[in-house]
Amino acid sequence: MSAQPDWHEWCESISGATTVTGVFGWPVRHTLSPPMHNAAFAALGLNWAYVPFGVHPDALATAIAGIDALGIRGVNVTIPHKAAVVEYLDKLDPMAEMLEAVNTVDVCDGRLSGYNTDGPGFVASMHEIGWSAEGRAVTIIGAGGSSRAVAYALLLDKPGRLSIINRTPEKAETMARLLAEIAPADVEAAGDITVGGLTGKVAEQLVRDADIIVDCTSVGMYPDVDVAPVVPPEWLHEGQLVCDLTYNPRQTVLLDAARRHGAATLDGTGMLVHQGAIAFEKWTSQQAPVEVMRQALWRQLG
Ligand code: NAP
Repeated sequence: MSAQPDWHEWCESISGATTVTGVFGWPVRHTLSPPMHNAAFAALGLNWAYVPFGVHPDALATAIAGIDALGIRGVNVTIPHKAAVVEYLDKLDPMAEMLEAVNTVDVCDGRLSGYNTDGPGFVASMHEIGWSAEGRAVTIIGAGGSSRAVAYALLLDKPGRLSIINRTPEKAETMARLLAEIAPADVEAAGDITVGGLTGKVAEQLVRDADIIVDCTSVGMYPDVDVAPVVPPEWLHEGQLVCDLTYNPRQTVLLDAARRHGAATLDGTGMLVHQGAIAFEKWTSQQAPVEVMRQALWRQLG
């Protein structure tokens, strides 16, 4: 397996026999997924290609119908289509069904199956660096789409307790109610989720007492990289794992603060790589070359 695919040779290999995959998004210009997947196909010697499709929200139904018509093997689905795509699919895996959001579509005998690999991708990235949520206190910051996916996957990792804090606390409350409804009965933490805002004593305690903190907000994302961290740095300390879903930049203002306060850190590229690797494996039935995908992603991010 070559870690540095020969791009020129690979481009020339596109032929009538090439299997096509890709990503539907709007806008799709800034997607980082094509080089990641194309590097993986090249590394495994697969005559496959992954291309970006700019699909306007008004054209989603037509684009989905076109997947099978065009012989596309599968697609990723990104902003703003993750929830809207659900109604056009024939089947959903349990996680996608619970979350009512899909990021991966797989085609089998003309039937479209939807999966959500975001949450499992995050948990895989955490396991990869030797951390598990099992028995631990986990505090999630944010209550948007990615937060919901990550929280659900973390619950399946059986944390000792789960808390959610968000700028708009009502959204954290709604999310906690949903998680309690959809989590399997044996996940005790799901029935007792603490919620709150981002400021005040409750938030401070939930962050200080957490073993694992996962920032699912867009605070610190490019181009607004020089903002204050989403929570005060002095709440972070040694012994904690602080994760940020944002991958551009890799070193966010929160991760920088966490490192300075002695905490371990995990950036968002691990989740991006692993959610892609899970999709890759569904389409190709081959083990994804995770390191090749990671290097391709890191090259793009500089
Ligand atoms: P989203 O659904 O729009 O949710 C955004 C969240 O950020 C909400 O909880 C929002 O709070 C909060 N927020 C936004 N601005 C804030 C501010 N100034 N102060 C405090 N909170 C603020 O977004 P998303 O799709 O979940 O994405 C969130 C982040 O995750 C983005 O950086 C995205 O790039 C990243 N992400 C990474 C991956 C990966 O593979 N690594 C995958 C998906 C997403 P309110 O509810 O109060 O508005």
